Amino acid sequence: MTADSKPDVSLAAVRERIARAAALAGRATAAVTLIAVSKTHPVEAIEPLLAAGQREFGENRVQEAQGKWPALRERFPDVRLHLVGQLQSNKAAEAVALFDAIHSVDRPSLVAALAAAMAKTGRSPDCFLQVNIGDEAQKGGCAVADLPALLTTAAEAGLAVAGLMAVPPAEVEPAPYFALLAKLARDHGLNGLSMGMSGDVETAVMCGATHVRVGSALFGARA
Ligand SMILES: *Cc1c(COP(=O)(O)O)cnc(C)c1O
Repeated sequence: MTADSKPDVSLAAVRERIARAAALAGRATAAVTLIAVSKTHPVEAIEPLLAAGQREFGENRVQEAQGKWPALRERFPDVRLHLVGQLQSNKAAEAVALFDAIHSVDRPSLVAALAAAMAKTGRSPDCFLQVNIGDEAQKGGCAVADLPALLTTAAEAGLAVAGLMAVPPAEVEPAPYFALLAKLARDHGLNGLSMGMSGDVETAVMCGATHVRVGSALFGARA
C-alpha cells in the first residue's frame, strides 16, 4: 500500500474504503472508528491529517508518543490517542497517563500494573484484550484458550474492557482470523473489535471491525 503524497487525499481514500465495505455489510460507517497509526512519522506528517479533521491516532511506543503528542494535544484537545503496540508493565503508568485506549492488554501482570496506574491517576482508558489469533510464537496477545481467564482477571481488576484486538498472521487470507476474533467477542458479550490494517481494512470491516488501525495507507511506508 502506498499513500498518496497528499495526506488529506489518502485520508479520503481510506474513509471511502471503509464506507464501501460498511455499506456492503449493511453496517453504518459511523460504527467504524479509523485510527491513524502515526508511529515513526514526525509531527509534520501528522499535522495535515489533523487539519483534515482526523482525531483518532495510534502509536506503538509510549516514549515516542510522549515526545510527539502533548504539544499537539494542547492545540487539538479532542484528539484521542490509542496505544497499539506491546506494553511493558513498567511503562503502564505512563501509558495510562497519556492514552485514551490501550489495545495490547494481553497478560495478568499487565492487567495488575494497569489497574494500579488507574487507581493512582483516576484515569481509565478503554482496554482491548489482545488475542494471539494465529497462535504465532513471536506475536503479542494471549492464547485463545487463555482469553476467558484474562477477561475475568481484567473485570475483577476494574479495567474498562472495550473489546478484543488482534493482528492476524501475515501473508495469509485474514478473513478467518477476523471471523474468529468476532466470534470470541460475541461469545463474551463484547462490542469492540480492533482489527484491520492498511492491507485488509475492507475484510475487517465486513467481519465486524469497530476500530481499524491504518498506518501506511495514510502516511506512506515507514522507514
Ligand atoms: C503499525 C501497526 C498498524 C498499522 O499498520 P499498517 O499496515 O501500516 O496500516 C496496525 N496495528 C498495529 C498493532 C501496528 O503495530
